[in-house]
Amino acid sequence: FEPWNDPAESPLIRFRNVTKRFGEFTAIDDLTLDIYEREFFALLGPSGCGKTTMMRMLAGFEAPTEGVIELSGQDIAPIPPNKRAVNMMFQSYALFPHLSVWENIAFGLRRDRMPKRDLEARVEEMLRLTRLDQFARRKPHQISGGQRQRVALARSLAKAPKLLLLDEPLGALDKKLRQDTQFELMDIQEKTGTTFVIVTHDQEEAMTVASRVAVMDNGRIIQADTPARIYESPSSVYVADFIGDVNIIQGRATPDGDEAYRVDWAQGQTPLTASSATRFEPGQACHLAIRPEKVTISSDRPADAANAVQGKVHDIAYLGNLSTYHVELPGGVIIKAQTANTRRLSRRSYTWEDTVWLSWTATAGVLLAG
Ligand code: ATP
Repeated sequence: FEPWNDPAESPLIRFRNVTKRFGEFTAIDDLTLDIYEREFFALLGPSGCGKTTMMRMLAGFEAPTEGVIELSGQDIAPIPPNKRAVNMMFQSYALFPHLSVWENIAFGLRRDRMPKRDLEARVEEMLRLTRLDQFARRKPHQISGGQRQRVALARSLAKAPKLLLLDEPLGALDKKLRQDTQFELMDIQEKTGTTFVIVTHDQEEAMTVASRVAVMDNGRIIQADTPARIYESPSSVYVADFIGDVNIIQGRATPDGDEAYRVDWAQGQTPLTASSATRFEPGQACHLAIRPEKVTISSDRPADAANAVQGKVHDIAYLGNLSTYHVELPGGVIIKAQTANTRRLSRRSYTWEDTVWLSWTATAGVLLAG
């Protein structure tokens, strides 16, 4: 079930040719994007690429210089921030230190003068949803960082917004807690059916939690897709390089059959073979992007590999479950091969200066414009 693929459904949020300038500086550059109901959407990109500016425009703290942002088909420009069905959860959580967990969650509902009985039921529901029941009477300083994060989430969801914006929501948590909390966030998002838009620096986090990820650069979206498609079929070298580890081989592609290409690359090396649905002209400059886990390392030349190159082990990174070998080819190109350490390291492992073969299939790599 991929709601964002259903053309019958209209998007919850629509950016139409949105540009945001601060003086001379263009922070968001003619950006068009649809986000659908119930999506968990991640904005990912280097510092300064415009992620927070997009969130602030959705929340109503900034207005686009050009273009229109729609929420449920309506231009949101005339709607003040507090009247939008949008809430923003900040990294600092901004909890009231003198109020209990219960009162922190109730705060927005009281301000809206929700009837007492409804308010109490709603707060209790939020406490259950975020597993905070037993901490309801405590003050923020009497609970852990992870619990504070959940209070902030409960408070943001109390008014049942259509859209929740999360700016680096897990930034203050340590790695282990952060990973556990990612699954909690996904669970809560699914239970409430609220559309979440998250900003994160952490590509693993974006890939874990999001149903779709937008990779941004310089105020533009370079690719917006499911995590698997972003990883397996990046649309550019920038995206391939931004997400995960990748080998990028520069060369020239020449058609060699149906969706098949010969790639001439380093001098003295046998041309590589790659397949691509995107067309390349004979001799067109290209980059072949291959994930390290798609490269097989072996002592002997594999009999029927589409691509096989020989080199010397230059570096080894042992990561417990995985090992990454950096193999230097004649001419100095380094190719990384990653193997899963499913058995105890034994005769299957290689060491520095070993001469090894690297091989991969014709479909292992993605051919990208150079
Ligand atoms: P980070 O990951 O570091 O938070 P970001 O992707 O969220 O970065 P933004 O905060 O959206 O980036 O900022 C995008 C660009 O717009 C930056 O170059 C920033 O300096 C600029 N910018 C943001 N707000 C303003 C402002 N009020 N006035 C001038 N420039 C601004």
